[in-house]
Amino acid sequence: DVRPERAEPAPPAPASNIKISSGDRVIFPGDGITKSELADYYAAVAGIALPWIADRPISLVRCPQGRAKQCFFQKHDAGSFGEQVHHVDIREKDGGTEPYLYIDSADGLRACVQMGTIEFHGWGSRVGDVEKPDRLVFDLDPDEGLDFEDVKRSALDIKRQLGDIGLASFAMLSGGKGVHVIAPLTPKAEWPEIKSFAERFCRALAHAEPDRYTATMSKAKRKGRIFLDWLRNQRGSTAVLPYVVRARPGAPVAAPVSWAELGDIDTPARFGLRDTAVLVERANGRGLKGWGVAEQVLPDL
Ligand code: ATP
Ligand code: MN
Ligand code: MN
Repeated sequence: DVRPERAEPAPPAPASNIKISSGDRVIFPGDGITKSELADYYAAVAGIALPWIADRPISLVRCPQGRAKQCFFQKHDAGSFGEQVHHVDIREKDGGTEPYLYIDSADGLRACVQMGTIEFHGWGSRVGDVEKPDRLVFDLDPDEGLDFEDVKRSALDIKRQLGDIGLASFAMLSGGKGVHVIAPLTPKAEWPEIKSFAERFCRALAHAEPDRYTATMSKAKRKGRIFLDWLRNQRGSTAVLPYVVRARPGAPVAAPVSWAELGDIDTPARFGLRDTAVLVERANGRGLKGWGVAEQVLPDL
């Protein structure tokens, strides 16, 4: 078991001027988790989450009436988030620009929660230079019925294959059904090159082991296989960010894990909102030291 035997109480949340309205509203029915509890969670993990969430264009999964009611994926501002949620103008295909959201503080997280946000998803690049990604994400999407053991084996496989071409990578439990394998990059190559690399890498894996992998999105082709979702690496695509709570039953968290411990973990929903103290302790502990950090650029493929 990767968890300490007894969870310490979550560290107190720093004070904030952003008021949470309807704090008693239960937004995870069945788990009894309220909007205030979600706000407290994000305050407590701000220190470990912001290094990954801050200064990136983000999309929000908002569920103002709770996760069991209507949720929507929001990329642009309706103008109502307040001054803690910033804007970055990004060029669109049609030549115009659109303002995307980003945050850089615990109050930014809180302002989003106040607006009904549960999940934070991010671009693979930072607002300072949105055209040059700082990470690759290989999103392993198993077909229904596949065992998590298969997903873990594949994640380790991808890690080894990336290692063979000189890229260090790190694992994150999605909190849903899969694992994300993340290779940090020193921003240099631009989106077309990044996307092409990710696509060729995944297609090569699927070609070598067609019984295990598909690099094609269609559900039919996924039968009994893992879809290697390289499409997260396109300009404008997002992926769930570390320490984000998923709008799914039990409030699972997208949790960084070390390669060494992955073998002992039996579900991608291993950690949840109520593991706050454990998540903070783990993030600052030895097992995750250096997680997600590497100075490296795309190799030739
Ligand atoms: P799981 O392990 O269950 O697959 P996941 O976060 O990887 O969890 P995916 O379904 O693989 O979920 O989604 C990949 C990404 O696609 C999400 O992380 C998100 O950033 C993006 N996404 C999800 N919903 C939408 C949407 N409605 N519109 C645009 N992008 C979305
Ligand atoms: Mn996925
Ligand atoms: Mn996916």
